[in-house]
Amino acid sequence: MESMADSLLDRFLRYVRIWTTSDKHVEATPSSPGQWELARLLVEELRNLGIGNVELTEHCYVIARLPASSGYESKPLLGFMAHLDTAQDVPGRDVKPVVVERYDGKKIVLGGAIFGNGAAVSGGSEATAPLPGSPVLDPEADPGLAAQKGKMIIHTGGTTLLGADDKAGIAEIITAAGRLMARRELKHGPVVLIFSPDEETGKGLPFFPQEKLGDLKACYTLDGGAMGEVESECFNAYMAKVYFSGKVIHLGQARGELANACLMAAAFATMLPRSESPEATDGYYGYYCPTEISGGLEEAALELYIRDFDLNRAKERIAALELFARAVEAQFPGGTVKVDVTAQYYNMKEQISRRPEVLAKLEEAARRLGISLSRKPIRGGTDGSRLTELGVPTPNIFTGGRNFHSVKEWVSVPDMEIACDLIVELVTTWAEP
Ligand SMILES: [Zn+2]
Repeated sequence: MESMADSLLDRFLRYVRIWTTSDKHVEATPSSPGQWELARLLVEELRNLGIGNVELTEHCYVIARLPASSGYESKPLLGFMAHLDTAQDVPGRDVKPVVVERYDGKKIVLGGAIFGNGAAVSGGSEATAPLPGSPVLDPEADPGLAAQKGKMIIHTGGTTLLGADDKAGIAEIITAAGRLMARRELKHGPVVLIFSPDEETGKGLPFFPQEKLGDLKACYTLDGGAMGEVESECFNAYMAKVYFSGKVIHLGQARGELANACLMAAAFATMLPRSESPEATDGYYGYYCPTEISGGLEEAALELYIRDFDLNRAKERIAALELFARAVEAQFPGGTVKVDVTAQYYNMKEQISRRPEVLAKLEEAARRLGISLSRKPIRGGTDGSRLTELGVPTPNIFTGGRNFHSVKEWVSVPDMEIACDLIVELVTTWAEP
């Protein structure tokens, strides 16, 4: 039989090779065919573990139900969730994971260096001169990486993301489920596993199969970062689309007449305070972030995110958008600006704090494994934010991955194993009297 590590590692390497980048411009859910491919593979693997009740919904949610141990049927139903898609920010196709069996603690040049013989070598250390512009993982700048010396890590080839976000989470959940199925001495209540499409775009959420989840008491997403980190509060998140309509006339006769929608959008973007941007903030500070700008003389559009842990402060930013809109109209007579705001997800802190046992069980399971947890606010959200809003408290657990949404993404294999152990321990902890 495969060892735990092999099986977890093998799964992870299988999953990251499937191209599951989601596409925010595609209306359908899932937004990319690779998500179906991964979902079908998971269905097959879950069935091979002996789980009879596995379902794939019409919108590509995979739902698997593990029956309770005999005599434990009345224990609370627990969920574990991870997402199928990867972020659009960097390429996610042809991911070539590089497995470093024993990390030597040196700088890692991603994509490797070209030697005199023309051979490309992945994961070259600092002894080889990097190609100009090659991304580098530097342990001096990243204590988390330095701490992996002597351990197994996996990084990218330098041109794509890795997809540990969230395929590390998927591999951990499925491996843990395999262990729960195989080891009858592990007593547990009913467990449901949920693998969701289009988390990164937020477009999977409207199709969340809540009605299929029954009386779910608590859920945990495996979608976090460094070992030990647990997230139980997240941003309140809104997306705004700002539409600019210009006043167009032949450019030869434009003097005093033209209202140029391109410039209106640009003027609006520059009104967003730079001190309230993702690049200028951290911790509990919120921000505005333009994410897309498009258009021409006549029409232009700007998409932006508003994020804040404090709901009132998020709403103040929404109100400010209207003021910026009026200011742009004043600068461009004849032009009009319209702001459309949609809520994406809400801070889960309050809901989770109403059910303290959800974090208490997690703390207890971690204590038994000898690991200490640290709480950290997520400067983002997860599918767990949505589930929490629906009344199922859903904190987020580390996966062992780092530098998500970038070509510098990497994952610690021992930390993945700990995440997997934690799932098993958590399930059995919940089943105790
Ligand atoms: Zn994620």
